[in-house]
Amino acid sequence: MNERALEQTCRECGRPLSFHDGPHAVRCERCFTEFLAIRDREFLSSYAELGVRSRRIVAETALRAIATESPPHRKVLAMHIMEQYVLAASDVIGLWHALKQRGRMPLMQAVMDFKLDRNAAVAFFQEVATTPGRELLQAIGVPTPEQAAARYPQFPKRDLKDFRKVVGQLLYDLEYTVQPGETAALALAQMAGEGRMGAALVQQSAWLDRVGLRANQVAAMAIDAKRRTINLTAISVDEKKLQQVLTQINAMTRAAENLVYAVLTVYQEEERRAGEIRNGPSG
Ligand SMILES: [Zn+2]
Repeated sequence: MNERALEQTCRECGRPLSFHDGPHAVRCERCFTEFLAIRDREFLSSYAELGVRSRRIVAETALRAIATESPPHRKVLAMHIMEQYVLAASDVIGLWHALKQRGRMPLMQAVMDFKLDRNAAVAFFQEVATTPGRELLQAIGVPTPEQAAARYPQFPKRDLKDFRKVVGQLLYDLEYTVQPGETAALALAQMAGEGRMGAALVQQSAWLDRVGLRANQVAAMAIDAKRRTINLTAISVDEKKLQQVLTQINAMTRAAENLVYAVLTVYQEEERRAGEIRNGPSG
């Protein structure tokens, strides 16, 4: 058998590759989609279990500690909570962004490559704020519960009930996340761009660029080379405000977890459906 003959069949299913697959294809389109989906699934489960949830745990712990700490420590903890806020936002917006490109780019790669910047933050806030729920779901390849019931007749009743609950909560949390509007999106992008926030923590800032901080404020600073200035993101060490930030972190973390749950459910039901079609309906 010569090499050319080898190249002309799909590596997975052995079916001949068509002209349409292109001269260098190693898999047919269907096998490639499956190939990516298997890897996406593994990635999503571990990301939801370890990565996403950690933001909430760290922020809750920091907020509890604030009540008993001395003022300088309180400032550090407040900044730490803001860091978790930025990370939680990066998780949910990055996932959203990756899910929208599913099929074109492996999820893992899209999530890893994602950088929360001005454009990404504003686009997400605007899209979620102005798009009806069912279209939001459609954008990330998740059916509404009604569509799911019609498409997957074998979807167990109890799972469908969970799915309905998850999708409802997901839409609620997404909406909640973008409620603070574009100002919040821009602040998030700025903080995300500042990177190593802790390292650039400042107590008093008048020396920086004629921006003063109040006594209960702490700020992250970053040099803005383009505008030739120093950007400051001031944060008040106010437990009520930080509690609100924690509520935001909770909503974003839950949204990311539910996004993952919804997508994994769709994979599972698609697989069940494909099995039914291959084997014919079972009694
Ligand atoms: Zn194939």
